[in-house]
Amino acid sequence: MGLQEIERRIAEATRAAGRVEGSVRLIAVSKVQPPDRVLAVLDEGQRLFGENYVQEAAGKWPAWRAEFPGVCVHMIGPLQTNKAKQAVALFEAIHTLDRSSLAVKLAALAQVRGGSPDLFVQVNTGAEPQKAGVPPEALDAFVAEARRLDLPVVGLMCIPPEAEDPAPHFALLAGMAARNGLTGLSMGMSSDFEAAIAAGATHVRVGSAIFGARDYGAKA
Ligand SMILES: *Cc1c(COP(=O)(O)O)cnc(C)c1O
Repeated sequence: MGLQEIERRIAEATRAAGRVEGSVRLIAVSKVQPPDRVLAVLDEGQRLFGENYVQEAAGKWPAWRAEFPGVCVHMIGPLQTNKAKQAVALFEAIHTLDRSSLAVKLAALAQVRGGSPDLFVQVNTGAEPQKAGVPPEALDAFVAEARRLDLPVVGLMCIPPEAEDPAPHFALLAGMAARNGLTGLSMGMSSDFEAAIAAGATHVRVGSAIFGARDYGAKA
């Protein structure tokens, strides 16, 4: 499909939703993609990317940052507490704050560094046992705790259950963000970003529709 087609569809969905042009940011999810595909998208002008693995991101983004001014990389995968220190040095934002122990760790790192990447709280909107994320009923208390720790929480993030209509999950997330005074909504992937934009997404995370299918067998 490619970058330009996805940009066109985002603009169209933004218009269709009666939203302000440019109010949805595209995160090009480059995890596991071969370098030549990522380079092609960098050459086309894309500067915001998403990665799932700290190690993988550490291996490729420092060089591309030096080569392409303005690059921003957001962490969108589960973050182990023992990788938090490396993560805050690598990423402009982390979309997967999902537990108190990680909040405490990030707060300690923010003290030392004098700042923190922007944070999105991941919410397990489908209450799936195998999935990361704060349970919806615990979200308000968790946001309050993160704020007490002086963490820069800017929004919420979700990954709806695969077999379900994502729209109710997007609506649920938007409602939870609004009642907590949060403006960022990280939701929508290749298969459902238009529905996410209709529900208020500010950040859509699109991988395979831009870069093509991921080949996990080839991952280093
Ligand atoms: C991999 C991933 C994406 C991108 O998925 P596509 O279906 O390839 O668009 C988005 N969000 C998260 C959290 C991911 O892990």
